[in-house]
Amino acid sequence: MTEQSKHPAYIWWNGKYVAWDDATVHVTELGWSTVGAVFEGIRAYANPSSDQDVVIFRLQEHLARLKKSMALVRLRLDYSLPELTEIIVELLRMNEVREDTYIRPLAYTANVAGKRFSEVGGEAGLLINTSRMPSHLKTGVTQTAAVSSWRRISDEVMPPRIKNLSNYRNGQLASMEARAHGYDIGLLLNTGGTVAEAPGACVMFVADGKLITPHVTSSILESITRDALMVLAREVLGLEVIERAVDRTELYLADEVFTCGTAAEITPITEIDKYQIGDGRQGTISRDLEHAFHAVLRGQDPRYRHWSTPVHAAASVLA
Ligand code: PMP
Repeated sequence: MTEQSKHPAYIWWNGKYVAWDDATVHVTELGWSTVGAVFEGIRAYANPSSDQDVVIFRLQEHLARLKKSMALVRLRLDYSLPELTEIIVELLRMNEVREDTYIRPLAYTANVAGKRFSEVGGEAGLLINTSRMPSHLKTGVTQTAAVSSWRRISDEVMPPRIKNLSNYRNGQLASMEARAHGYDIGLLLNTGGTVAEAPGACVMFVADGKLITPHVTSSILESITRDALMVLAREVLGLEVIERAVDRTELYLADEVFTCGTAAEITPITEIDKYQIGDGRQGTISRDLEHAFHAVLRGQDPRYRHWSTPVHAAASVLA
């Protein structure tokens, strides 16, 4: 078996499962092809109670977002969501995935050579690759943060609610600034001056026992994890959940702050701009949410099994 930590045996590319080494493009394709490219970040988790199976978390929601992202950047999607579901499950089977894994579909402008700037769009290339990505839930990881001097892109400039590769230059600048100043991550305000999100994750905080997060018109990505955690906070923990505009000073004074996302999962923030958050450790509500989320991600909570797509189980959801 190919060691996934180096690279998987296959990627899926434009209708075919292609051996890793054969998936190459001509160098002249570099350039405009990825300016308008959009992608998804999806995770599959090992389910320890299910004979080495892995389950993909909220695959349908991720594929629906890919479809929306492609529509907004005017790329044509030539596959139905059930077809993409089948393709991804089969790719994980072919790569013999049995551990926590990241799945990244990427849609880009095909046959870009010789096209003008304004002609880039329409026909899309689509590739899907997998890579090993162990969960850090329940490992005690925490981060320090600083409010960035960069502002999150706004919808009048380019659409923050989709996963366009070009959007990530904005978050990358904020990350680089935070690192240069000795913090783990930057937090971006939007052009209205209220809290947007972290470079690759949304932001939530706890105050007076309530879970609060910037609303979807705060220049954030419409995060699938954020949505899942709001559901779990309400239904499992019985919390009041509020989506609204958030001031930066609310974060400084919060009892708990954490980022959330496919890669971030739940990551507690213990300090922002040198203000200690709560008692400087992960708070109890985010810990309870983390435990509930962990069970759901691994397909171990029957109430949320509809969010899990099993990969190796004979009776998959493909029917
Ligand atoms: N914001 C940005 C900019 C992101 O890249 C991500 C990661 N996809 C998120 C938020 C979290 O979104 P999701 O929960 O859908 O992964």
